[in-house]
Amino acid sequence: MTARLPTPVQDTATLLRARNLVQTYHARGGRRVQALSDVSFDLRRGETLGVVGESGSGKSTLARALMALPAPQSGSVDFDGVPLAQARGAALRALRRRMQMVFQDPMSSLNPGQRILDIVQMPLVVAGEGGAAERRARAAQALADVGLDAGVVGKRRPWELSGGQCQRVSIARALVLRPQLLVCDEPVSALDVSVQAQVLNLLEDAKAAHGLTLLFISHDLGVVRSVSDRVMVMYLGKVCELAPAGSLYRAPRHPYTATLLASVPSPDPARRLLRPALAHGETPSPLDVPSGCRFRTRCARASERCAREAPALQACADAPGHAVACHHPLPLS
Ligand code: ADP
Ligand code: MG
Repeated sequence: MTARLPTPVQDTATLLRARNLVQTYHARGGRRVQALSDVSFDLRRGETLGVVGESGSGKSTLARALMALPAPQSGSVDFDGVPLAQARGAALRALRRRMQMVFQDPMSSLNPGQRILDIVQMPLVVAGEGGAAERRARAAQALADVGLDAGVVGKRRPWELSGGQCQRVSIARALVLRPQLLVCDEPVSALDVSVQAQVLNLLEDAKAAHGLTLLFISHDLGVVRSVSDRVMVMYLGKVCELAPAGSLYRAPRHPYTATLLASVPSPDPARRLLRPALAHGETPSPLDVPSGCRFRTRCARASERCAREAPALQACADAPGHAVACHHPLPLS
């Protein structure tokens, strides 16, 4: 795998700044689902931030809010110092070109009636970049960058390719405009395990070659581990924990993260047995979230305070760069 870019630490190195993002949806019976609830974080230039949480925790809503597709109901997103909410028309389109997305299901995110070369060229057409010959050449290069030969696959349609090949096409399409930020929403979840590693390697290579910043979403902590510099764990629309990957996997501080980690297969049976039972029961309905800490109804460490008071995401004094939203965090073991 390609070597990691160093992760800058100065604040000037922030590419994207998300503050207090809230997004709600209308649900049946006039009720509302708060899919994102006061989510704040910074994305540093050149880093890969893994975002993990079970289905329904708000990961896709977050990805869309970052792109203003649609904009969050409240809160702010600054991209390279520019507030997205203040950009309009051509300025907003220009910003969006610098941030591209890859989706979970490669087949359905590609137009089945279009040929592969046309699919990869489309962002250039929409952006009005280059003449026809230049666009074709750039699309062919983007396909070559993801290991596909335009001469072989360029005239085919998505259904004539495998799932892994389709995901490569999606990545080529996302990279053809040379974005700074790539948001990958469960990019390998629909792929066979054997193909997942290839696509992950490809993303790492693309990141190194283009100096990309990556937001990598998955429901699987095991998948995120190999690609992330830092990891953010979400539960029912809130951030539970945000930490450098090494620190999070070695010593998770939020009981929910520890529970997720316990379900990742460990090669060491002794470690598996050592893991404490920290959670029980099912995830509550997003229509009826618990008061205070949203995880408390499943948490073995919950106290009366957890029902009263929602814990804020706070830096851990004993672990640099590690932040947790918990009244009773796990000790540094
Ligand atoms: P994830 O990607 O983590 O699975 P989502 O962001 O898709 O989570 O969804 C978060 C919550 O918002 C879920 O409870 C989901 O049912 C709800 N939700 C998502 N999209 C919509 C929508 N368009 N209309 C109503 N509810 C939605
Ligand atoms: Mg999703």
